[in-house]
Amino acid sequence: MTVTAIVGANWGDEGKGKITDALAAKSSYVVRYQGGSNAGHTIINSYGKFALHMLPSGVFDPAVMNVIGPGTALDAEMLLREREELMARGVPEPQLRISERAQLVLPIHRLFDELEEERLGERGFGSTKRGIAPFYADKYAKLGIQVADLYDESRLLQRLEHMLAAKNVLLMQWYGRQPIAARELMPELLEIAEKLRPFTADTSMLLQEAYRNGEHILLEGQLGALRDPDHGIYPYSTSSSTLAGFAPVGAGLPPYAITRIIAVVKAYSSCVGAGPFVTELEGDEADELRRRGGDAGEYGALTGRPRRMGWFDAVATRYGCMLQGATELALTNLDVLGYLKEIPVCVSYELNGAIIKDSFPVTAKLDSARPVLQRLPGWNCDISHIRHFDDLPDAAKQYVYFVESATGVKVASVSIGPRREQLIIR
Ligand code: GDP
Repeated sequence: MTVTAIVGANWGDEGKGKITDALAAKSSYVVRYQGGSNAGHTIINSYGKFALHMLPSGVFDPAVMNVIGPGTALDAEMLLREREELMARGVPEPQLRISERAQLVLPIHRLFDELEEERLGERGFGSTKRGIAPFYADKYAKLGIQVADLYDESRLLQRLEHMLAAKNVLLMQWYGRQPIAARELMPELLEIAEKLRPFTADTSMLLQEAYRNGEHILLEGQLGALRDPDHGIYPYSTSSSTLAGFAPVGAGLPPYAITRIIAVVKAYSSCVGAGPFVTELEGDEADELRRRGGDAGEYGALTGRPRRMGWFDAVATRYGCMLQGATELALTNLDVLGYLKEIPVCVSYELNGAIIKDSFPVTAKLDSARPVLQRLPGWNCDISHIRHFDDLPDAAKQYVYFVESATGVKVASVSIGPRREQLIIR
């Protein structure tokens, strides 16, 4: 009986989608439990290349039941569009269930996200503008709309009026916009309700039963530990917990159900959006790593924005793995470093004359932290065709051992390319 969480140990974009896709074949359920369409999980398999924003990464295997849990920010339009696009490209119709308790990201959330980033200008947080922060703010202010509300018209209207009473004040006074009437939103929502109807379910009961029956369940995280609102680089964080500890909450499973926590670690660092990023590279060094990284360079899967690049950061990654409670690591993008004769890695931070190694500074101090770099030997060749750990060049093995000693967690799989089959299981 295994419930496995696949989560990011860094800032996101570690390659969780690829690892989930590779493991989905052994699972009965793949579950998204937090976040929304601000995810960008890139998957390359026999059907082609896909960037999934809202659908769980198990959708390429028709035997897998894909679940959108109550903890997610459901962007219904994006989900329905992604599903259509997948099938138009030859993927068999995926099995999909959406929690009736999941809440909906509404156009007004996206509007507020845009207006706020516009208002903040240079001081912005680098939002993906998918409405995620306004959505979660409304959810916790008890203004949100649950999927089940879509199927009770008078309740839906009442909930929208309740939400808009507060939102319209901000819209008019703060952003100088016209107010929105609840009735204006109804036709679109009722149309979406019908399209979602075949998929809505009590997914918590579904997963609880699957758990009791000993089925394999994969809980797929979005973003990474350093974006967690409580433990990460707040306020440059996301609005839902990115930690495996939240996975059973957002999915509707007992906390003790998870027995395996795979923290996905990138062989170097990348980060989208604003915020402190200690190992950040500039100029040619950054450009070269960005150009060679990922499957076609390191650009945001959702926004196309160039990702900020840095060397592997042992301080941040150790902290990320600890917070995730990682029981094993999946080290990704190792192939990317094959162009280097020597590979710099950040082993500690220097902060106001002190060396920081075993803890991660709070955001208020992080801007003053400087990376202390060490150089590891490079392997300086292509390793993307290798399928067995023993066949890796010694320097690549040493790099894996270095990550293990830096994090204190075993690297159980090494990804050496973006494709599903480019995976070494140890
Ligand atoms: P996710 O959100 O964690 O799933 O990560 P993204 O999909 O946003 O970013 C990961 C990027 O790395 C994508 O472009 C993947 O195709 C790519 N990728 C994943 N694993 C590997 C790998 O081992 N090697 C290379 N070269 N690219 C990889």
